[in-house]
Amino acid sequence: MTGSDVHSTKLPARRQLPSVDKVLRHPTGRKALKAFGHTAFVKHVRQALDEIRTSDTPEDETERCSEASVAAQAARNLERGQAPSLRRVFNLTGTVLHTNLGRAPLAKTAIERAVAVMRQPSNLEFDVSSGKRGERDDHVRHLICDLTGADDAIVVNNNAAAVVLVLNSLAREQGVVVSRGELIEIGGSFRIPDMMAQAGAKLVEVGTTNRTHLKDYQSAIDDNVALMMKVHTSNYVIKGFTKEVSAPELAALAAQKGLALVDDLGSGTLVDLSEYGLKRERTVRDALDDGASLVTFSGDKLLGGPQAGFVVGRRDLVRACAKNPLKRAMRLDKMRMAALEATLKLYQTPEHLVRELPTLRFLARPLAEIVDLAARLAPIVQKAVGQAFVVEPCDTQSQIGSGALPLDTVASAGLALRPRNTQTAGRQLQALAEALRALPVPVIGHIRDGALILDLRTLDDELTFVEQLNDGQNRLQSVTEATQLS
Ligand SMILES: *Cc1c(COP(=O)(O)O)cnc(C)c1O
Repeated sequence: MTGSDVHSTKLPARRQLPSVDKVLRHPTGRKALKAFGHTAFVKHVRQALDEIRTSDTPEDETERCSEASVAAQAARNLERGQAPSLRRVFNLTGTVLHTNLGRAPLAKTAIERAVAVMRQPSNLEFDVSSGKRGERDDHVRHLICDLTGADDAIVVNNNAAAVVLVLNSLAREQGVVVSRGELIEIGGSFRIPDMMAQAGAKLVEVGTTNRTHLKDYQSAIDDNVALMMKVHTSNYVIKGFTKEVSAPELAALAAQKGLALVDDLGSGTLVDLSEYGLKRERTVRDALDDGASLVTFSGDKLLGGPQAGFVVGRRDLVRACAKNPLKRAMRLDKMRMAALEATLKLYQTPEHLVRELPTLRFLARPLAEIVDLAARLAPIVQKAVGQAFVVEPCDTQSQIGSGALPLDTVASAGLALRPRNTQTAGRQLQALAEALRALPVPVIGHIRDGALILDLRTLDDELTFVEQLNDGQNRLQSVTEATQLS
């Protein structure tokens, strides 16, 4: 069929398109007009009419052209447009701190403090006792110094910003010595060499990918070198024939040469994770004790707070960073400052930390509790997805995520949803994953060994999870059964 044929067959129906005015006067139109207002509704009625006018599907044309249908279509489009784009999901991926899913969920008090300063004016940069201008970072400086043993601290937008700020403040047009084994890329957009270039510093690579010796650093240091840098290899481990220079050795060399040593910790925990049954990760205090002049780390990784980046350590160096005009472009807003202060305050009562801080609560969640949860949910999920799948509790391995202990996993439990018909398994799994993502609160798992796995370590809202499965049961089953037959 040629274009002109389509045209001629559809012409009679098109002539019956109602006027905008008629659509607005129809009861459905009148109701929508009240709900959405004149401007938005008229715009969407025009769009709906245009869509019909230019569409290539002639079937049901008369029905589509009725005032009621056009009004309803416009209202549906408006409603869809008003639904939030950024919304909650169930992170059942097994990665506790998932960058794509927003990393750390905030503690209750952090949320409450953030909401409070959103509602009302605050003393963000105002010293209430003197009535003079105050420092934004003062709200958290003493807390972070207290928790890490640092002399001074500033806070910026994220750890990437912290690294750029340090390099730009302390090594502009000068050399920064980094081991070739630590030239990391995180998430595709954070690469040490690129950050270095953007910050205006010159990367001085030393050693090889697998082995870097103290003498490599020694011979690379000349008059043009301003900084030595150590970077936490957050998403990989170099194994086999390897050699890395320890932080204390680097610090000793830096001191001898009169250079500052920056340790980019990445995740940067403030507590000894071994107390919570996890493997110990170097803390910020460890890095400072090992002799780093400055340590940089994130606020929304293991620390469990809002997105933020810290520069902590020697006062003269921190002040140099604070004075850099770039700091202004990287500063924290009041909402995150309030959430960060509240999060850091939780660390003052370590006994309650695991109860109050969701990140730590998830990481330290007893396996027996997750196993019970899996047993409880298996029949419910089985009923919801129907007989096309076998749902069984299974062992899983959770990861911390966001670059903490990259190769270490934590024994966990979950559900395996496996297609009964192995011939169509691939397609069925994709359809099931899609259907679960289409629920009001999308459920995000991962596919492994022919099954969709839902790791339950991070499920704390069992009620909503179960309710929406029950509500969505018919839709889930029709989607999954349709792919089984096709
Ligand atoms: C995660 C990470 C960063 C980037 O931190 P953001 O807070 O995501 O900006 C930088 N360095 C290391 C070593 C990291 O692990």
